[in-house]
Amino acid sequence: MVLIIGMVHHMKRFLALISITIAVTACGNSSSQPDAQKDVISVAASFYPIEEIVRRVGGTYVSVVGLTPVGEGAHDVQLTAKNLDALTNASAVYYISDGFQPDVEKAVASLPNSVVPVDLLQTVTLLDVVAQLDGTEGETDGEVLASGKDPHVWLDPANMVAMTTAVADSLSQLKPEFATEFSAAAKSYIAELQALGSEIDTKLATCESRALVTSHRAFAYLAKRVDIRQVAIAGVNPEEEPSAKSLEAIAAFARANKVSTIFFETLLPADLAKTLADKVGAAADLLDPIEGISSEDLASGASYLTIQRDNLARLQKGLGC
Ligand SMILES: [Zn+2]
Repeated sequence: MVLIIGMVHHMKRFLALISITIAVTACGNSSSQPDAQKDVISVAASFYPIEEIVRRVGGTYVSVVGLTPVGEGAHDVQLTAKNLDALTNASAVYYISDGFQPDVEKAVASLPNSVVPVDLLQTVTLLDVVAQLDGTEGETDGEVLASGKDPHVWLDPANMVAMTTAVADSLSQLKPEFATEFSAAAKSYIAELQALGSEIDTKLATCESRALVTSHRAFAYLAKRVDIRQVAIAGVNPEEEPSAKSLEAIAAFARANKVSTIFFETLLPADLAKTLADKVGAAADLLDPIEGISSEDLASGASYLTIQRDNLARLQKGLGC
């Protein structure tokens, strides 16, 4: 079914291109007719989920430069000279402000007036950062916005919907002649995001545990949506031996809250996963915060939607839903 819709979608674009070609041929280089090459606008997107929104809404009318390289996380991205150049020559940049990606914000602040900055953080309601579980220890990374709020808004599909609407509005202002196309594309992406949201709500409605214990506190927006409590832990990461104190604290919490799985961003080495299972009585599993996308994921056709469904399946299993 999805394939058929996709084909119809492509067919429509193909027909639109043919009619553009016919029109151009008929009128020579008349300025009132859109030119398929010249009319493609270039915009920048600061990291993966935003890039997906802009690609989906912009379709063939927009060329998108992603400022976070494939395989890298969003928080501490450093702009390359090439990306900085692309950004300076773009018509717009879509990003998240408030200290989420300092290097991007620094560049945005010094852009020429020809680049429209669109801060998508303005379209959503921000949550406070949850405190780390008492007794666990480790460094606090750049996981908090300058305002003290939580930056990981994209993990609730409802926020993706709000950002998609804002991107469609902004592209339509930049290229009013394609407003109908942008709005239709946004509508279809929004429908997919809403379907994902309903699936999350249904599948996580009844669970044995409603505590999502994670080493990367990226899931507050997703957790709030389904009334699950995110519990952030520190002191356990793939590179280091966890401290006995952290393990004690996690174990006590796991026992008290029927927690059987602890979620990490990257695969734990087998010995560390076993230590956790033995000492804490919980297994380890992965959750992807989608702060970027890996080249393997891109190559296999993964998207925000498919990665979120994978997260959902792991949550169902780990929380007993
Ligand atoms: Zn993060």
